[in-house]
Amino acid sequence: MHGYGGAEQLFYESCEPPLITEPDEVIVKLKAAALNHIDIWNRMGATGITVAMPHILGADGAGVVVETGAKVENLKAGDAVCLYPPTGCGQCEFCRSERDFMCIRLRVLGERLEGTYAEYVKLPAGNCFPIPAGYSFHQAAAFPLVFITLWRMIVTNAALKPGETILIIGIGGGVASATLQVAKRIGARVIVTSGSDAKLARAKQLGADHGVNHFTDNLVSAVHSLTDGRGVDVVLDCVGGEVWRQSLASLARGGRLVTCGATAGGQPQDDIAAIVTKQLKIYGSTLGSRREFGQLISFLNASQIKPIIDRVFPLSEAAEAQRYVEAGKQFGKVVLAMPE
Ligand SMILES: [Zn+2]
Repeated sequence: MHGYGGAEQLFYESCEPPLITEPDEVIVKLKAAALNHIDIWNRMGATGITVAMPHILGADGAGVVVETGAKVENLKAGDAVCLYPPTGCGQCEFCRSERDFMCIRLRVLGERLEGTYAEYVKLPAGNCFPIPAGYSFHQAAAFPLVFITLWRMIVTNAALKPGETILIIGIGGGVASATLQVAKRIGARVIVTSGSDAKLARAKQLGADHGVNHFTDNLVSAVHSLTDGRGVDVVLDCVGGEVWRQSLASLARGGRLVTCGATAGGQPQDDIAAIVTKQLKIYGSTLGSRREFGQLISFLNASQIKPIIDRVFPLSEAAEAQRYVEAGKQFGKVVLAMPE
């Protein structure tokens, strides 16, 4: 990436390979990377973070360790790994309480660190984890950011339980479709929304119990008729904007709303009376801890859930892959395959 702006700022070109400078670092030869919306916000300069140009985007990746620093004991050359994207300063109150994803000097692959749209990436050894059983490199690159985000929202924060009902706003996005998979495995009843009947049909194939087309149906009425007027226990709303009030109105008393962003607008109208009288809980979160990432990998090993991959582009077509994601046509993850 040579500057902030559109996909025309991305170039496929050669650069110097990364070199180990700290004893706890490793170099990973990447086999695959995956796209996330954060890559596009980073490209547009919408995060407020400024980085030196040229810069390599990409938070998600998987590959094989090729070099290790002098103090690395948990890894050796040849190990296949997937990557946990954030790393902290190691010194602030959050880093010292195993919450380095909340670090005040947080660094994330592709953001303040050089990312995974590349053949090689350098990162701390503690950010390399074993690949879940039976996963291809494409699958191993496709799950980390999306699944750690939903794991913290749905399992840690909302504590979704078997038999509860969850409403997932905007099925088709990476976090939403992965939440559908995990929520079904937990044993919850799942209602999904989309403006696309094709995406609703796909969600039903993946186990969604009900689909609501938010262009042709009234979301709140549909949810109330599906729940005998009670409302749902949990809403996942990473859309915001006009939908936010409908998400609040869809919740049962004592319901929990979880969010990790607002693709349709970050300043929605709230309904504080509903939040108060219905005793609602609203959890905001981003990323998740290393401990949660470890729990997640155990869950994926046991559940055999695999990330949904929509399409694979060669690394050389990263700009085209970002345009495809910006158009919002995908269901699941878009992956970049590295040259052999
Ligand atoms: Zn810190």
